[in-house]
Amino acid sequence: TGLVLALSACGGSGAGGGENSGSAAPADGDITVGVSMPTQTSERWIADGDSVEQGLKDAGYEVDLQFANDDIPTQSQQIDQMITKGHDVLIIAAIDGTALTSQLAAAEAAGIEVISYDRLIRGSADVDFYVSFDNENVGVQQATSLLNGLGLLNPDGSRGTATGPFNVELFAGSLDDNNAHFFWKGAIDTLKPFMDDGSIVVKSGQTDIGQAATLRWQQETAQQRMENLLTSTYNDGSTVQGVLSPYDGISRGIITALQNVGYGAAGKPMPIISGQDAEIASVKLINDGVQYATIFKDTRKLAEQAVTAAQAYLDGKEPEANDTETYDNGVKVVPSYLLESEIVTKDNVTSALVDTGYYTQAEVDAGQ
Ligand code: BGC
Repeated sequence: TGLVLALSACGGSGAGGGENSGSAAPADGDITVGVSMPTQTSERWIADGDSVEQGLKDAGYEVDLQFANDDIPTQSQQIDQMITKGHDVLIIAAIDGTALTSQLAAAEAAGIEVISYDRLIRGSADVDFYVSFDNENVGVQQATSLLNGLGLLNPDGSRGTATGPFNVELFAGSLDDNNAHFFWKGAIDTLKPFMDDGSIVVKSGQTDIGQAATLRWQQETAQQRMENLLTSTYNDGSTVQGVLSPYDGISRGIITALQNVGYGAAGKPMPIISGQDAEIASVKLINDGVQYATIFKDTRKLAEQAVTAAQAYLDGKEPEANDTETYDNGVKVVPSYLLESEIVTKDNVTSALVDTGYYTQAEVDAGQ
């Protein structure tokens, strides 16, 4: 305890005087970090919110955690209030990456540092730091898992023995989310050689991100688009053999549409379907052989980076970036800390998700 006390006393005097004097930094214990998360409809954001809150509390800060129901005005209002209340740092996962310019300008004017969380906030000079994953590589991994499942690519990256042609349909995320474009680019660049040589055929012809997009990443919207594709394109006896999906909720919408017309029953196998986030319901579907793969992004590690960055600012320092080139938000290149993600199939559910303590075996078995 002596050491802890000494350290916190040291932090207290550092924040109150010394290099920080003149800034409005309150004494330890009075520092509040505002955390703005997009929605509670997807479990990843709940986990992100919990982990960031816990990490900040463990570091001795107060936390104001808000979820915005995927509604842009709600998120703007919540952030306005955080600024009015004089929070010291903001950590924001934006719903619409371009909609927060005036909030960020107000934060800048009030001397509040802004950390963009997972999704890059665009069109503003007032984003100070970005913590995320290597999002283009997430897209590469999504397409790679699809190609692995189809047998077009071996796990070691060499060309598989399958030749196709395979009917594949493509889904993208929400266009107002910067990440959706990175996932798409990584995926399409990876699929392109196979589309060019005819081993993959997008039978609907819908190869444009605008056609493939899913507003707010909604499961029902994806289900509806899949139903429409099945009616418009696969009513001639042909079948879908693969679906590029950028998020587990979207994958589950696609799966429901397919199951409703008999996929997954004898003689009509489920297509190979990708995903993202390792949501527990989808992990169960992977174990049951219904969804082929997901991309695991350890939100605990992301939260940890956000807390580290917030702490750096509160100590009057700059957070440490490991990428200063990739994320141009249209106004500036935002210094970033990017984490790696991992493909999860039936083969490595246990090592990736249970052995790491992300889920318990009981949760994986129950799918909840
Ligand atoms: C996140 C993904 C998530 C998606 C939908 C993206 O910005 O990076 O992890 O699947 O939003 O919530």
